[in-house]
This record gives sequence, C-alpha cells and structure tokens, in this order.
Amino acid sequence: MQAVMETYKRLGISPTGGRGSWLFDDEGNRYLDFIGGIATNSLGHGHPALVGAIKDQADRLIHCSNLYEIPIQAEAAAQLTQATDFDRVFFCNSGTESVEAAIKLARKHAHDHHGPEKHEVLTFSKSFHGRTYGALSATAQPSLKAAFGPMLPGMVHAPYGDLEAAEKLSGPQTAAILVEPIQGEGGVNVAPEGFLQGLRDLCDRLDAVLIFDEVQTGAGRTGHLYAYQGVGLVPDVLTSAKGLGGGFPVGAVLAKEEFAALGPGNHGSTFGGNPLAMAAIKAVLGVVNDEDFLAEVRFKGRILKNALETLADRVPGAEVRGEGLLIGFDFGDPDLARSVFEHCLEEGVLVNLVGGTTIRMAPPLTVTRTEVRAMLDTFRGGVRAAMSAAVPEAAV
Ligand code: PMP
Repeated sequence: MQAVMETYKRLGISPTGGRGSWLFDDEGNRYLDFIGGIATNSLGHGHPALVGAIKDQADRLIHCSNLYEIPIQAEAAAQLTQATDFDRVFFCNSGTESVEAAIKLARKHAHDHHGPEKHEVLTFSKSFHGRTYGALSATAQPSLKAAFGPMLPGMVHAPYGDLEAAEKLSGPQTAAILVEPIQGEGGVNVAPEGFLQGLRDLCDRLDAVLIFDEVQTGAGRTGHLYAYQGVGLVPDVLTSAKGLGGGFPVGAVLAKEEFAALGPGNHGSTFGGNPLAMAAIKAVLGVVNDEDFLAEVRFKGRILKNALETLADRVPGAEVRGEGLLIGFDFGDPDLARSVFEHCLEEGVLVNLVGGTTIRMAPPLTVTRTEVRAMLDTFRGGVRAAMSAAVPEAAV
C-alpha cells in the first residue's frame, strides 16, 4: 500500500521528465502528451521561457507576503487586464480557489447593492467548478457530491444550454450565473449558439453577476487568450487557472471594476500572487498572448478537429466537439470510448476520458502539427481496432 491517498484513477505511467509534448519515464518509455497536465501544460514540458523565469525568480525572491506591494504581481495583473476587458485581478493558487473567490465576490456585490436575499448562484448540469465546498456545491454533477452533503445553500442548477430553464430558475434572488463557455470535465460541451448571450442579457436584467469559469478554456486553450473573446460578449467576472501558470499552481479572478468587491478583511490568500507564481504567469502570457501564437493554436485545432470529424462520420453516433486545442471525440458509447482510450495508452499517446463517452484532447499549445498528425494516426488505429472488434465486418 502506498502512502498517497488515491484521489485519481492512475494510468499506470510514471513520468520523471518531459520535453515539449513528450513525457518520459525511467524505463525509457516516451509518451505523446495530449492530456497536457489536464489542459495545464500550456507551454509543454521544459519550455525555456517558463523554466528560466521560475529559476531566475527563485534566485531573487520566492515568497514575501501580500502585506507588501509586490511589483511582479502588479506586472502580471497589468498584463492580464491589458490583454482582456477586465480591470482588476485577484490571485490565488488553483481553479477551485478562483471559483470560491468569484462566488464570494458575486455574493458580496449582491449583498452590498441589494441585501442578503440576493444570494443564489445559478449553474448548469454537467458543470465542473472544483472540489472545495463552494465550487463543489456549484458543480452540478450529483455523483461528485453525493457523500459530502450538506452542500452550500443557494446553488441552483439548470440544464446546460437551456436558456428558458435558466430564465425560469432565476429571479431577483439571483446573485450570479456561473458558466463554462465550453464544459471541460462534463464532456467538452460547447455552449449552443445564443446561450451565452442569453445569459448575458439575463444577468443584465436581474443585475446579477455573469461569471465565466475559464479555468479550463483560458490562457489560450481555445485559440483566444480567453474563450469569451471568441464569443463576442464580456462577462463581469472570469476565473482562470490551469494553463495560466503552465504547470505552476496558480489561479486568478478577473473582474470589471464595478464587480471587484473583494477587499481587505473580507478575502485573501497567503500564497496567492507570490513572486514565483507571478514569474510563471508572466512567462506564460509572454508566449501565449501573441496573435500569431493564438492563430497557430486555432490552425492546429482545425487540423485536429477536421480529421476527427472525418473519422466520426464513419462511427455511428459519434460527435466531435470543442474549439482550438480543447477537443472531445464523443463515441456515444462508453465501451468504444474506453477501448480507443486504452489503445492510445498502449501506443504511448496520452488522452483522457471525460463525461463517460468522450475522449478529450488538450495537448500543450506548443504541440507541433507533426505531433498532431502522429496522434491522429494512433487514434484512427484505435477506432479501427475497436470497431472491428465490436462489429467484425466494419471497416473504418
Ligand atoms: N473549473 C473548471 C472549469 C475546471 O475544469 C476545473 C478543473 N478541472 C476547476 C474549475 C478546478 O480546478 P482545480 O483542479 O485547479 O482546483
């Protein structure tokens, strides 16, 4: 028995090194990494800009305290606000913490402007917002919550994509609507046309805070720095983590000035925004926040998605979803999905299963076109093998 508490089903792989889109173990195996630390290794493994920035900052100052002005924190915040439509940033250390902070911020805003009755948070089926109590309560996946009740009160869930239900379930009591523009853990589900704009209008009508959870879709993942920038509307508040630190644990809440309700004495973090984490964010943004880089992410995403769509045409019930380098291949069948997933693993291509029937691909944003094609070859082989095993005469 090992000492680590097993919170994840491990894949039986023991990486000890990595370069670019590849992970290595001590036995000489190499793996093409289309998990990307779960949409987190935005610059791949061992990127010199990220490694150099962290080493350099570690030499200078690792941690002081938010009791001080931290120049590098102000620089990272300015980089984020200049690249987006937001004015203020709160730094923390993970996705779930950013969601906690966003919920608190929205409730405080509602409390200050309307009083304590306005405290409900509307979220959506199959959402994933994190594992701490506020974020878990917001997460509308019953199986993740079943043994942990009672949850935080005031969380209301509507079916994802159903604007009419969202309208019915909200009202003057609604402090915030929290939504992933593309649901990652829920199965790479893209918000249907008009849904996000409908939520924007609804929040305007209710004077509720529109929060986009961009923990997974942010930091260039969809080919925009943030997914909202490809949608054509601006939320009031946005959460970011994962890829923003390129693997360094970071989180951030971005807010318009009028919604920046957190302040001294009502929220904080010991580590959040510390110099080492800020060096990581600055290095990641230095690479990712570049129109040519983002255009290349979109291009590689297109190669991946087009090829998968061609493949899906030959798999009954299959569907490809996603944007940029966050793509899901939904087999509509858990056995088929598992079989292709296992084939990829055996062939040294790392992908993961989400939502039961979907294989998610979230490689480093620096993945090469050649690596995308190599991954596709393995994936096609997996589909061919799984389909001929399921229906011997089927040829893909
Ligand atoms: N929100 C979303 C949309 C996520 O995908 C995740 C992580 N999968 C989280 C929040 C929680 O992030 P973390 O694991 O860093 O707490």
